[in-house]
Amino acid sequence: MARPQFPTTISGSLPKPAWLADPLEVWPKWRLDGDVLNQARLDATLMWLKQQEDLGLDIVTDGEQSRIHFVHGFLESVDGVDSANKIRAPIRNGRSIQTVPVVKGTISLKGRVHEQEARLLRAHTDRTVKFTLPGPMTCVDTSADAHYNDREKLAMDFAKLLNQEARALQADGVDIIQFDEPAFNVYMDDAVAWGIEALHVASEGLTCKTAVHICYGYGSDVNARWKASLGAEWRQYEKVFPALAKSRIDQVSLECARSHVPVELLGLLDGKDLMVGVIDVQDETVETPEEVAATIRRALQYVKPEHFIACTNCGLSPTPRPVALAKLRSLVAGTKLACEAL
Ligand code: ZN
Repeated sequence: MARPQFPTTISGSLPKPAWLADPLEVWPKWRLDGDVLNQARLDATLMWLKQQEDLGLDIVTDGEQSRIHFVHGFLESVDGVDSANKIRAPIRNGRSIQTVPVVKGTISLKGRVHEQEARLLRAHTDRTVKFTLPGPMTCVDTSADAHYNDREKLAMDFAKLLNQEARALQADGVDIIQFDEPAFNVYMDDAVAWGIEALHVASEGLTCKTAVHICYGYGSDVNARWKASLGAEWRQYEKVFPALAKSRIDQVSLECARSHVPVELLGLLDGKDLMVGVIDVQDETVETPEEVAATIRRALQYVKPEHFIACTNCGLSPTPRPVALAKLRSLVAGTKLACEAL
């Protein structure tokens, strides 16, 4: 049998250049505005595309350079959501209080959301292009609802808008569309009851690969405290994966590096492509290639090689850029090491 070469990718976001926004903030402010901001975001996208290619990543993304936050970027393009008058509200079942936009009426898309970045990527690379969108449940959970009074109904309406944008992204030439659903690790019963169905609505009619990313969040202080409260074994995936295994979603991005997720839970997703997180985003200590290879070997006990994709645990925003670059170098080097040993 030929030795497998596992593809490498990132879960989504990359730190923004300091001239665009504070790279260390999860919810920063743009440092420019108007046409200058628009051009600067595209320039940052192109810079990170080149960087990902040079690092040797096989599946590339826009690094989410054109959105200030992985959810709010999409919500700014939704009519019925007031992003100009945000309020303070709890998110992720009260894990933190954040400044969020308010749903004030029936929602619809103002127009295209990510056309410019998607077409820019496609025009400048022959590699596999992945594009991330927030999942419907996470959209609900990262806004304040003053209109629907029904999380499931609001999620289904978000899912229809996400589907509209996802179909357009596919037409732009995107190869993989990934929905980010960190909320699945917080509301596991709802994820099974209606969250996966909302993903089906969001991905309906797509012929490109579809993916869902479920994680324990960015490397923020709030998330560090939450993770510390979860105990010795994190079994959240155990509730959602069996239902996800039966879903129409092709790929699942999950965390595995320096994580308390029992590795055998990966076996619950038999048949799916797994983007296995082999780079931690919480601890800035850079993984050695040997550490990455060891995580891959652990995961391979439960994932078939043909379904294995090496990835980061979560987005690399808000990681300092030199750390992010060093971690991505280890991701690629460690994956190569693991493949050579097979
Ligand atoms: Zn994540």
